Amino acid sequence: METNVVINTFVKETGGSVASQLEACTRCGMCAEACHFYQATGNPEYAPVWKIELLKRAYEQRFTLIGKMKLALGIDKRITDEEISHFSQIVYEACTMCNKCSMVCPMGIQIGPLIHEVRAGFSDAGIVPADLMAAVNKQVEEGSPLGVTDDVYESRMEWVADEWEVDLPMDVKGADTLVVFSSIEVMKFPENIAAIAKILNTAGEKWTLSTHAREVVNFGFYEGNAERTKMFLKRVFDGAVELGVKKIVVTECGSRLRCLALDFLQSDGRPRRDRDHSHRWADRRISQSRPHQVKRRCAGWEWNHYLPRCLQDSAQRRSHQGTQNRTEPSGPTRLQRNVTQSRRSNLLRRWRRRHCHQRS
Ligand code: SF4
Ligand code: SF4
Repeated sequence: METNVVINTFVKETGGSVASQLEACTRCGMCAEACHFYQATGNPEYAPVWKIELLKRAYEQRFTLIGKMKLALGIDKRITDEEISHFSQIVYEACTMCNKCSMVCPMGIQIGPLIHEVRAGFSDAGIVPADLMAAVNKQVEEGSPLGVTDDVYESRMEWVADEWEVDLPMDVKGADTLVVFSSIEVMKFPENIAAIAKILNTAGEKWTLSTHAREVVNFGFYEGNAERTKMFLKRVFDGAVELGVKKIVVTECGSRLRCLALDFLQSDGRPRRDRDHSHRWADRRISQSRPHQVKRRCAGWEWNHYLPRCLQDSAQRRSHQGTQNRTEPSGPTRLQRNVTQSRRSNLLRRWRRRHCHQRS
């Protein structure tokens, strides 16, 4: 029964884009190199390409001649309830939806969104891990999976402002930028909030927090449920519209930004809002700024300390360059180097496998 619901959702979601991506996969395995779950465990079931295996099988069995022939000849079997519940564990517990795997795929397959399609099937069938479902329900009822209600949010922000002696503007109408933190930062990593606020204040940004748009975590997105994803996103967009900001800046992991970039909230005629990540925003401001001026404005505290590691290098580099030499460094970026390295090691491994096989 559950299997039918899952397969029907897969079939419903399989348009030209999904089909062409599933067809394009060459099973090279390069995406595995990028996935932290696979890297940490070496478990082949955690390879990104395996996480979309059910979707691929459902597509083949329903839409392709070869898939139908395999079924008829008994080479492949119909998807069973046991497989569905096994894959549900893998897909929910071993994927953060970061989409890093897509960056190294030589075929340009968007693996993260495909994994999201798989989750959509599980969500429709109600096969979602109990802990995740509890967090989703809490976010529906209280506005936050960690129980950060309006009162809790306000008192935590007051405490952060006192503790780190930083100005945290709240519900400022007409500000340029709405910054939305996650409840995990509010409850567990308040130093992040203080650090980002100091950078924003130092950069002279007209920004604000919002008591209504106070949660950027979207557990509906993690669950794969479109309705709940939309509900949680709407709270953020409503807060932005209420305050009249031009831009929404989110913090923490990249999936929040990808989630905000979903288009379905734009179809109801609301004015568009720019969306950005705090790291990218900071990097852009550092690129545009004159480093010696930023340093002078930040005298009294080590501003570089508050930047994420990936930006510390660029901030230091630009700081050393000063105003005399503003040229961008040439050569590949760190990501490009990692991708090249990953491709090289993969080719080398394949070459060794073939070479050893021929010799034996
Ligand atoms: S990197 Fe792309 S083509 Fe290679 S196995 Fe992964 S999804 Fe398929
Ligand atoms: S989206 Fe991220 S966590 Fe999920 S399979 Fe890809 S690399 Fe791994």
